Amino acid sequence: MAKVVLNGIEKVYPNGFKAVHGIDLEIKDGEFMVFVGPSGCAKSTTLRMIAGLEDITKGSIYIGEKQVNDIPPKDRGIAMVFQNYALYPHMTVYENMAFSLKIRKVPKDLMDKKIREAAKMLDIEEVLQRKPKELSGGQRQRVAVGRAIVRDPQVFLFDEPLSNLDAKLRVHMRVQLAQLHKRLKATMVYVTHDQVEAMTMGDRICVMNLGRIMQVDTPLNLYHYPANKFVAGFIGSPAMNLIEGELMNKNGNIFVKMGGIELILPFSKADKIRARVGKRIWFGIRPEHICLGEDESAADVNGRIDVIEHMGNESLVHFYQDGLQVVAKLDSMDSKDLKPGEQSAFVFNMEKCHIFDYDSEENLSL
Ligand code: ADP
Ligand code: MG
Repeated sequence: MAKVVLNGIEKVYPNGFKAVHGIDLEIKDGEFMVFVGPSGCAKSTTLRMIAGLEDITKGSIYIGEKQVNDIPPKDRGIAMVFQNYALYPHMTVYENMAFSLKIRKVPKDLMDKKIREAAKMLDIEEVLQRKPKELSGGQRQRVAVGRAIVRDPQVFLFDEPLSNLDAKLRVHMRVQLAQLHKRLKATMVYVTHDQVEAMTMGDRICVMNLGRIMQVDTPLNLYHYPANKFVAGFIGSPAMNLIEGELMNKNGNIFVKMGGIELILPFSKADKIRARVGKRIWFGIRPEHICLGEDESAADVNGRIDVIEHMGNESLVHFYQDGLQVVAKLDSMDSKDLKPGEQSAFVFNMEKCHIFDYDSEENLSL
């Protein structure tokens, strides 16, 4: 196993497009690191540079102690699993898994042992003699993982490996891959555009946007302490409410003014942003930090209910006031008497809110 270090990585494609703008990242030995971000943010490009499938325009990549910039993919000690699995259609499952070992002239006994061990781990022993077209999507996916395992790589690289599976199977494979990681204790770098997948699988998550790292941290730290508006809006489902506003000082208390609504900030938040009074900001509050009821500390809003989405355990209640659109996540029993078109009082838990600089979008309230 090995750590992976990216130092000042940039990528300019031959057509002149700059896809990666200076990435610095240390992935620890044995860590499950997830790259997450919207489509086109350069997750695959970055992963492919680690794999050696794309040239590095600037900077250096280390796997273990070795700089690998000029080392071909096959000598980097990595194994990659792609979204489309890239199995050889004319070979059986067994032959697909054996392929890279044959090239490396691994003795036949050892090869057979490795393939059977991996097949057992992934529950594909029954299908070793089948061709890929005779397998379900989930089985093909496991063969692709098996082919990576038998190589004993120092680092596993996954590029959206679950995207082609249906929702239920995806959840199942998510758990299987997490178990596999525990078992192999291998360094894994996993690319996905799905923040739920990132949150549930990653030891740490690297959130990317437009070829840059927005924040690297554990799932819970990203959720509770987003460094900027992008991470705040990207991590969490449904997304954090983000509303344009302005900071005001009234008798020493700091308020956020949004349209006709004024919400008082608790001291813990106010003290950090006192110097910004009068400035435009983004106010952020998660749907789960809004509840029904009135509050004497003046953090309540009288909203008109627009749409209610019942999820079973919870309900998403969309309401508006003075042109502000807000969504609250409520216990479904609490919201059972609400009706679209009616007015209701909502309380914002201001201890949990975030204030972002309007221009730099950095979080001012941490
Ligand atoms: P992601 O995997 O996050 O969806 P990619 O790494 O595939 O993003 O792409 C990042 C950016 O680089 C995108 O804007 C994409 O259009 C661009 N890009 C990808 N491959 C090439 C290429 N071969 N030539 C030029 N631009 C490319
Ligand atoms: Mg991609």
